[in-house]
Amino acid sequence: METDLKGKIALVTGSGSGIGKAISLGLAKEGADIIINCLNLKHAEATASEVKGLGCRAIIALADVSNETAANEMVDKVVHEWGGIDILVNNAGVASLIMVEDMTKADWDKVMEVNLGGTFNCSRAVIETMKKRGGGAIINIASFAGKRMSMISGANYSASKAGILGFTRHLAYEVGPYKITVNAVCPGHVITPLLEKGTTPEFREKLKQQYPLGKLPTPEDIADAVVFLASCRARMITGTSIDVDGGVTLGVGHAGYDDYVARKKEALKKLRGTK
Ligand code: NAD
Repeated sequence: METDLKGKIALVTGSGSGIGKAISLGLAKEGADIIINCLNLKHAEATASEVKGLGCRAIIALADVSNETAANEMVDKVVHEWGGIDILVNNAGVASLIMVEDMTKADWDKVMEVNLGGTFNCSRAVIETMKKRGGGAIINIASFAGKRMSMISGANYSASKAGILGFTRHLAYEVGPYKITVNAVCPGHVITPLLEKGTTPEFREKLKQQYPLGKLPTPEDIADAVVFLASCRARMITGTSIDVDGGVTLGVGHAGYDDYVARKKEALKKLRGTK
């Protein structure tokens, strides 16, 4: 797939590890320069060094995206140093495993403020520069949990991801006239530090049975969808979401597949009157 990403400037939040790191490298492979945002300097430096190894520019912006001032200052600094931003990937996210009955308002707020608040803060901060540059692409990393629920995170996580999908649709309408597209990507379970923290290896092995494609998506699978949405190939796509989830949102596991085929074949024989 040819893209037009060479020389484009992309801010990827939460790009020190996991999905965000893979997205940064995916965009850099297409020639984009990357602003690496996260909370951990060592992780950011590792991503920056890999981006530079691909021949692209990389700068590190340690900032808490849930903090409005920090998000604004990060964007202002990049606009000042690099002249603007063409692509924003709102990927930074946190999760908690607590049930609602045990959840404090502070637990609720933490996840909402990073996942949904951070998406709002960074999106609003880049609108002006994208308008000035004649367009842009905002890609929000939501989750299958925003469309159904997740056994490995809490209701605050699902609510934040559903909120991101609503925000994506509404912002797409508002900035459409400025040739800024806004879309979301909904990953299934991806093996990253976030998922490893909340599951055991046995649990992760069992998860595969829920996947019609028989395996969990990788960070690179998510990055491929982001690269597409950031590129000219997706120029007429806005206000929507792409599920990169191996079919898990179909809601039917892989485990019953043989039985499914056997029953259909039996029904076919009856229908056709064959043995
Ligand atoms: P991860 O824990 O590996 O990475 C999260 C990154 O976000 C880290 O670099 C961390 O430093 C950064 N971060 C956290 N809080 C931040 C803040 N306040 N400000 C700036 N950076 C912050 O997690 P991951 O699995 O790669 O998740 C990335 C995104 O994908 C998240 O939005 C997550 O909800 C979403 N997602 C993950 C999965 C999965 O199974 N791993 C599934 C669906 C959606």
